Amino acid sequence: MKKTATRLADGRELIYYDARDDAVRDAVDQRPLDPISTRSEVRHDRLLGDDVAVASHRQGRTYLPPADECPLCPSRDGRLSEIPASDYDVAVFENRFPSLAGDAGRCEVVCFTSDHNASFADLTAEQAALVLDAWTDRTAELARLPSVEQVFCFENRGREIGVTLGHPHGQIYGYPFPTPRTRLMLRSLAEHRERTGRNLFDDVVADERSDGRRVVLDGEHWTAFVPYAAHWPYEVHLYPKRRVPDLTALDDGARTEFPQLYLEFLKRFDRIFGEGEPPTPYIAAWHQAPFTADDRDDFALHLELFTIRRTSGKLKFLAGSESGMNVFINDVPPEAAAERLREVASK
Ligand SMILES: [Zn+2]
Repeated sequence: MKKTATRLADGRELIYYDARDDAVRDAVDQRPLDPISTRSEVRHDRLLGDDVAVASHRQGRTYLPPADECPLCPSRDGRLSEIPASDYDVAVFENRFPSLAGDAGRCEVVCFTSDHNASFADLTAEQAALVLDAWTDRTAELARLPSVEQVFCFENRGREIGVTLGHPHGQIYGYPFPTPRTRLMLRSLAEHRERTGRNLFDDVVADERSDGRRVVLDGEHWTAFVPYAAHWPYEVHLYPKRRVPDLTALDDGARTEFPQLYLEFLKRFDRIFGEGEPPTPYIAAWHQAPFTADDRDDFALHLELFTIRRTSGKLKFLAGSESGMNVFINDVPPEAAAERLREVASK
């Protein structure tokens, strides 16, 4: 892997990750861009104890541009985009419309491929491995920023999820605080440790493997299952068999196996609802330990992949119970979801 870091015309960072060690990325951003003025602000909710990022400048961001105006395609034929090069493998840059910026964290965009019409599931295992390298490197780099406490690599796929650009891409948020979901997990981890002396993540994975009904795929280095209390209609959690706190600590075996396994899951997701159904909208979310948490080594890096589609043509909305009270109602029993995800395995 070759990494080339440069700057866009307004000073934002752009980093190319290339599979070939002899790739040359020296194109200069020719656009007359104004310096970015971001007014992102984190407000604390005293009743709930969580934080809200208020980012008024985001209302003007690009919304579903036509393919020939895509800002994530390479710059070609005099059309200038966010990527000055005429081609690329994987490119990461600071978001021009960040939800978090400056002292309040950092937002980056990860372009998975220069092919506008592909999706992650179309990538080769080699391309997916390069994306994993980029996620890992960004986690290590953002760890150095004093304004970043936790790194969240994720992909939203599909208009139903609110994706505003069709080009295959994901995002990386560097939060200035440990996120509420991670804090809840750390609290459960501490309570379990206190009560049993054991690691909760280890116990959850071991219990799923011994029960077996919700296990979808058991690889050499990864276990994938639908959790016992899945919140979403189809939801899979992927854990490396050797517990590590974040992507930078993954061993070679797990890194080598991940791309094929993940691509297989994305393909299965597109088959859940049968032939002729539009691509399944999904969210893929990497859970990593916050950098300064006391018990960060007890945390288990894992990927949560889920869809908000519950059946053909119907979405699961976060309505009264979910949005109003944080109580999820799931219409698909997790055992049935796991069975379906095993049925649609690649032949
Ligand atoms: Zn594009």
